[in-house]
Formats: sequence, structure tokens, C-alpha cells
Amino acid sequence: MSKPKVIIVGGGFAGLAAAKALGSTPAEVILIDRTNHHLFQPLLYQVATAALTPSQIATPIRSIFRNQKNTTVILGEVTGVDKAQKCVFVSDADRQNVPIAYDHLILATGASHSYFGHNEFAEYAPGLKSLADAEAARNRILQAFELAEAEEDPSRHRDLLTFILVGAGPTGVEMAGALAVFVRTTLKSDFRRINPASARIVLVDMAPRVLGPFSETLSKAAKQRLEKLGVEVRLGHSVDHIDADGIVVAGERIASKTVIWTAGVAPSPAGKWLNVETDRAGRVRIQKDLTVPGHPEIFVVGDTASLDQNGKPLPGVAQVAMQGGRYAGKLIHSRIVGNPPPAPFSYFDKGTMAVVGKGFAVLQSWKVQVSGFGAWLTWAAVHLQFLATSSLRLSVFLQWAWTYVTGQRGDRLIVYHHGEELVKPVAEVSAKPVFAGK
Ligand SMILES: Cc1cc2nc3c(=O)[nH]c(=O)nc-3n(C[C@H](O)[C@H](O)[C@H](O)COP(=O)(O)OP(=O)(O)OC[C@H]3O[C@@H](n4cnc5c(N)ncnc54)[C@H](O)[C@@H]3O)c2cc1C
Repeated sequence: MSKPKVIIVGGGFAGLAAAKALGSTPAEVILIDRTNHHLFQPLLYQVATAALTPSQIATPIRSIFRNQKNTTVILGEVTGVDKAQKCVFVSDADRQNVPIAYDHLILATGASHSYFGHNEFAEYAPGLKSLADAEAARNRILQAFELAEAEEDPSRHRDLLTFILVGAGPTGVEMAGALAVFVRTTLKSDFRRINPASARIVLVDMAPRVLGPFSETLSKAAKQRLEKLGVEVRLGHSVDHIDADGIVVAGERIASKTVIWTAGVAPSPAGKWLNVETDRAGRVRIQKDLTVPGHPEIFVVGDTASLDQNGKPLPGVAQVAMQGGRYAGKLIHSRIVGNPPPAPFSYFDKGTMAVVGKGFAVLQSWKVQVSGFGAWLTWAAVHLQFLATSSLRLSVFLQWAWTYVTGQRGDRLIVYHHGEELVKPVAEVSAKPVFAGK
């Protein structure tokens, strides 16, 4: 008899945890992801601010499962699910919508950016969700300093050296703090015509305080720390407009060539594939055993799922994704080997942290609320622990230690991908001859 087939879509925190929980299951496990790597998203901002290289926060999924013999990794984009036929459709560079059958399905496809109905902002304010996003943000930030150094008109320096982050949640706060340290420490001796420390960093949010999920005390501590680092924090107003020349907030135009979107997230289209009930954000409403109502064989976990606990929706954080993925894997394992199912899923909140610049973080865990260096050390230890492999842990630890002591950053390269070159081919810049007068 052939082994039961478990398909996991997504090799993020939830998908990885599910696949690992199925390591000893007598099943054929197929993990499908549209990228070939597991990405540690909480450190994306460190790639964007040149502290770490992309390869220090991402690991090939295939290598993670090299010793897990029941697991096959497939690079492909899932485009839909047929619940009746029990198959997912997968496209890759060669083939479109190939059906792959499953007995058990785990959808762990995460989330992407949400511009809250203003998709036109995307062109001017890219988000931070993938390695490509982080590299693009790093290119833009480094390039702004290069353009300012080359610019002989000092009145243009201010616009070029104004960096705006839209969204003062953990990502925006962490990015603003890291950027402030970067421009005031790492770059300080590198330029001759401009003073990198004069760069203006503006953090904007419509919420009345930064770090909404944290207590008011910690939120205040984080804001004070940002201001000490020279970050301008503008709260209480949503951004009305974003274009190539900057943003408009509360009727005021702030000129900038570098705007980065660190605000909302929107779930993957898993709810549309399944045609099931979703919450207002579009996340699939799941039951206490993380399955979709009426389909005990379909699990939805992580950022793309919606489950309430104690009357509140579980947050879209890595811990929820990992615990959910592990639970789904264990439940499928027990069904396959004939064990009794585990108790309904219950999220155990280990706490939340956010780092604000060098040597300072805020930490909230149950009734404990701390900020400062101790919280930062805890933040560093926890993030190292959750990186996917021991080689990444060592590499990131050494890089952090080096940066902490010297202020120097690991990856300050501007890498143009095709089509992004600094100087566009002449035909693209102007249809007219370059020496028009001759
Ligand atoms: C910049 C940033 C900072 C963050 N910081 C923190 C933090 O400090 N602490 C914290 O707890 N959380 C943080 N988060 C949130 C955390 O990263 C997410 O909650 C977590 O990644 C969710 O895990 P997931 O497995 O549901 O989704 P993801 O980790 O996003 O994984 C989804 C996977 O599915 C794949 N995929 C998606 N669609 C398809 C498809 N159609 N076909 C095939 N594959 C597909 C993707 O390639 C990806 O590998 C942060 C997120 C971001 C973006």
C-alpha cells in the first residue's frame, strides 16, 4: 500500500515546523515553496540596513531537510486548491498548474504587504517582506548617499538624505533605529562633501503611539530612544499621498527620494483558493485543531490563518506560526500512526520584543516589561536561537559582535539587478540624440 501523502505549501516558520514534526511519520511529505529558501523575516531590516548579508538570514530549504528522508522539497508556486479532487495546482518555470494530489494538506503561505487600498503607493514605497525587497531597500539607501556626495547643489542634499518609514510597528521602529545607527556611526567618516549624520529619518504612523502591540510604558521608552537617536517620530496622521518626490502627511509635504513601507500586511490568497470563510483581513477562519470547517484533511497555519484565543485573534508573529505548524504536523502524525489526537491547539505566548538601535530593546512577557541593554541581550540570544542552522547562528553572532565593537557593517554593496542600473541606457533616458545641437 502506498504511503499517505502530506503536502505542505510554504517553507516559512509554520511550514518548516510542520515538516519537521512529520520527520518520523510513515508518509510521503512534499514541501512546496516558490522560493528555494527559508527566510528569517525578523532580521530583514538588518539586510536592508547593510548589517547582515542575505545569506545570513536565509537557508536553502532543501539543505534543511537533507537528512529527513521522507520529505521532498519542490520549488514551485501553488496557484490553487481543488478540495473535491484533493489536489493543489503548482506552476514553475516550465509547467503551469500541474495537479499534485494530497491526503493531508497544510497551507502555510504567509502574508504580503497591504497598502490599505492605496496600491499606487507600492511604486514609490516598496515594502520589506522578501530578500529582494531588503536588497532593493539597501540599494536605495546606499545610493541616496552616493547621489548626495556627487550632487554639487547642497540644496538637494536634504531631499536626497531624507529617509521616510511609513508604519511604526516593530518593523518600522527596528528599521528606523538601525538606519539611525548606520548613518551616524558606520558612514560617518566615509564621505567628503556630505555629512551622513545629517540625514533625516522620519517615522510616520496614523496610530497614536509606536509599537502598538506593546504596553504604553514600553511604547514610550521606544519612542524616547528613537528620538535620542535623532529619528523624527510623526504619529496620529495617515499618509495621504506618496510619489517620486516624497510623501504628504497631515497636509505637509516631506520631500524624500527614499520611502519604505513598513505598515500593514495582507494574507496570501489561501482563503480564495479554498473558497471558505475568512476574517476581515482575508485570513482563513480555522478551528481549534487548525483545520478548515468541513475539511479535517486541510490545515491552515501561520500568518494566513485566523484563530481566536481568549476572545482575541492570535497575532501574525513567528511564534504563532511555529507552534501552529508543529501542532498540525503532530496531529497528522497521530492520525497516520493511529494515536489519539493531541488536545486542541493553544498558543503559548513567550513574549514580544523589538530592538531600537544599538544595545537597546523592549521586551514584554506576561507581566514582565523591561527595556534597555538587558532586553537587547535577550533579543539577540532569542533571535540567534531561532535562526535555521548552527552555521547561520555562528556567522550572525560574529557579525553582530564585529559591528558592535567597530561600528562597521557587513554588506554595503549596491548590487544592480538587470533593469535597475544607475545609468539607464541612452535610448531609455531620451529618444533624442544626446548631442542634440550637433
Ligand atoms: C520585516 C518583518 C519583520 C518581522 N519581525 C518579527 C519579529 O520580530 N518577531 C516575530 O515574531 N515576527 C516577526 N515578523 C512576522 C513573522 O515573520 C511572521 O509572522 C512569520 O514569518 C509567519 O510565518 P508563516 O510561516 O506563516 O509565513 P512566512 O514565514 O511568510 O512563510 C510563507 C512561505 O510561503 C511561501 N509561499 C507563499 N505563497 C506561496 C505560493 N503560492 N506557493 C508556494 N509558496 C508560497 C513563501 O515563499 C514563504 O516561504 C516579521 C515580519 C516581517 C515581514
